Amino acid sequence: MPKEIAGPEVTPGARETQLGEWRIVALKDASFALDGGAMFGVVPRVMWERLTKVNSDHTVPLATTPYLLDNGTYRVLIEPGMGLRWGEKQTAMFHISHDEGHELVTSLRAAGVEPEEITHCLMSHCHWDHIGAACGADGLPVFPKAQHWCPQSERDAALHPDHLRRASYRKEDLQPIIEANLLQTFEGETEILPGLKMVELGGHSDGISLVILETAEGKAAFWADIVPTSNHVHLPFIMAYDMNAALSWEVRTKWIPLAAEEGWLNLLYHDLDQPMGRFVVDAKKRYTFAAI
Ligand SMILES: [Zn+2]
Repeated sequence: MPKEIAGPEVTPGARETQLGEWRIVALKDASFALDGGAMFGVVPRVMWERLTKVNSDHTVPLATTPYLLDNGTYRVLIEPGMGLRWGEKQTAMFHISHDEGHELVTSLRAAGVEPEEITHCLMSHCHWDHIGAACGADGLPVFPKAQHWCPQSERDAALHPDHLRRASYRKEDLQPIIEANLLQTFEGETEILPGLKMVELGGHSDGISLVILETAEGKAAFWADIVPTSNHVHLPFIMAYDMNAALSWEVRTKWIPLAAEEGWLNLLYHDLDQPMGRFVVDAKKRYTFAAI
């Protein structure tokens, strides 16, 4: 447990909190499922099957959770989500569902915000389950007034994927945003707004980035696929999807302990029912997730 926890307490399953001047809301996009073995990498099934529900086809249920950051002046969307442009084959294979309010624009409106009011749309990396909802069923940008941001390396991978990357990117997720002159890219690190930055780390993908919000009341971070669910906080729990597992290890051993030490509020994109909480460490140096 961090000695002192800055910022608000978060109750288990909470979907909204306030950090400094920022209202933070866990929105809803899709629910879906991915192969359990791929989600847990080298961790044996006997260990991970105790942690999560497992479907009969060996997939594990996941969410895609975009986040709204609203300080009254700016309305920032982090990670738009998977969206609606999916055919029958993928819908069945990945169990994609938009039931029970799982649709980004519906969820955004329930939080009191119209798509036109989004000022920034931040994309940690450009995998299809992370940015598909930035364009609607008509294939056009959903947030017409938003500056969209992604790492340059991710833009390149999405537009020109090689054999290794082809299954993870769809050019049509990004092309309409570029054509509408809405996309900005960065290398290394960029400050989107005062106190809000994207830090390119790599490992899971070429340029996957951490989004960090710094306020007078403490820090928050959006972890994307660096820590996809509350079951992936333990340092060796690296997904088999990661392109460079050695770099993922480096990234995770640097940033997860820092977030635990400083009591950051952590936003987890793929967790089914715990979208926000803190990282804690026990006496054996095992890192876990706590909805505190
Ligand atoms: Zn990914």
